[in-house]
Amino acid sequence: MDSFCPKCRVIIMPKEEADGVFLECKNCGFRKPFDGWTEHDCSVCSHKKAIVILHEMVRGDEGTTTMYRCLNCGTVDKEGWIGR
Ligand SMILES: [Zn+2]
Ligand SMILES: [Zn+2]
Repeated sequence: MDSFCPKCRVIIMPKEEADGVFLECKNCGFRKPFDGWTEHDCSVCSHKKAIVILHEMVRGDEGTTTMYRCLNCGTVDKEGWIGR
């Protein structure tokens, strides 16, 4: 889930390009295909690709929240939020 550069050990963010989604390290240029995205309509810009973030709740009954981070504008949409 977390995406680290194997050389620099920094977090690298997925970037959408014409032929897919890639992880690219700005430090060393390391690059690999990224498949942790899904089709999701962004609530802000209606972009259709987003990164899936699963967030396990520590306190039992709230369950698992699925979050989508838009690859275009970075908006995080929450789904499966139980409770408030
Ligand atoms: Zn690097
Ligand atoms: Zn968006």
